[in-house]
Formats: sequence, structure tokens, C-alpha cells
Amino acid sequence: MAFFTQPRLEVLFDKEAIAKRVAALGKEITQHYRDDVAGPDGRGLVVVGILKGSFVFLADLVRHIDLPVQIEFMGCSSYGDATESSGAVQVTQDLTKPVSGRHVIVVEDIVDTGLTMRYLLDNLQSRGPKSLKVASLLEKPEKNRANIKVDFLGFSIPDQFVVGYGLDAGGLYRNLPFVGLVLPDTAGQS
Ligand code: 5GP
Repeated sequence: MAFFTQPRLEVLFDKEAIAKRVAALGKEITQHYRDDVAGPDGRGLVVVGILKGSFVFLADLVRHIDLPVQIEFMGCSSYGDATESSGAVQVTQDLTKPVSGRHVIVVEDIVDTGLTMRYLLDNLQSRGPKSLKVASLLEKPEKNRANIKVDFLGFSIPDQFVVGYGLDAGGLYRNLPFVGLVLPDTAGQS
């Protein structure tokens, strides 16, 4: 029995589709960095999750990366209205270790306008990483006005608001195992 009433959702990517794509991304990342970060001289890969939305994607992704990996988190809040970020970002939680000279991947739930990611990349680049790349579960290419290149991308989606698998609406739905669209309230209709 369900303990709370779910909104009407249209499933865009079910858990099987996500699992398959995330496993492929993990493999791609492993192959890309294998010669640089593994082996006796390798210092491993630093995976930086952006809170809170990336936590589910990150947890699944890193289990498909067959390399030494260190996990860090950054928290940020962007100023803007509820659905559009302004690009003015405040870091609310910072890394616990320097990333100078390290191979770094930033992991996001979604790149929408790209303004948040642009800020984070500039911020991290100033700390002198050996390389800096982006992994994102989703991107909305039509909206990406900051021209962020997502190096390891799950899926491209149209300009629609999605929830689930880490993504929220008003703090809820992050625990849904799929990515879905919230449909308009049609109470009273069947
Ligand atoms: P950007 O700066 O790229 O416009 O915004 C990125 C952030 O906005 C994401 O990390 C996410 O928190 C939020 N966001 C953008 N689009 C969506 C969406 O469709 N659904 C949800 N839940 N959050 C979104």
C-alpha cells in the first residue's frame, strides 16, 4: 500500500533504462581514465557530486567505475526563481581536500541553462586540477546557454521539468527510481 499520494507522473526513463545507461557511462569513464589514474603512479580519480540532486546518480555511477576513486561533494544554491537559475551561485558546502594536480569529474543531475555548472567549473578550474570533466545524468540542450560540454552524458531531454532519481520538486520525489515528468493536476478526471 502506498503511504502518500503520488503526483501524476509520466515515466521518461524507467529504472532499467537508467541502470543500463549508467553502467555504460561507468565503463566509458573507466576506459577514459584507466591509463592516467590507475597503476602504481596513479592517484585515482576525484568524483565531485553536486548536492543534492546528484546523490543517486553518483552512488550508482561510481559502482561502475573500475578505478581508484575518491568521492567529494560540493553544495551550491543558485539564486533565481523556482524553475530558472540566474547564474549567481553560492557555494554552501566545499570540498574537504585540494584537487590540485588531480583528475576531477563533476557529477550533476541535470545541466539546464548550464549557468550553475559554468560557475562550478570556473571555481574548480582555479584550484589547478590536472583535468576537469563533467558527467551529468540529463541535459536540456535547447537551454544550455552557457555552452557546457557534458563529457559523460546519460540522456538529452526536451525543455521539460523532470523529477526522480535524485531530482526534486519542492524537496520531494528524489527517491523515485525513475525519471518522470510531473503532469498537471487533473483531480476529478480518471
Ligand atoms: P542550470 O544552472 O543548469 O540552469 O540549473 C541546474 C540546476 O537546476 C540543476 O542542478 C537542478 O537542481 C535544477 N534543475 C534544472 N532543470 C530541472 C528539472 O527539470 N527538474 C529538476 N527537478 N531540477 C532541475
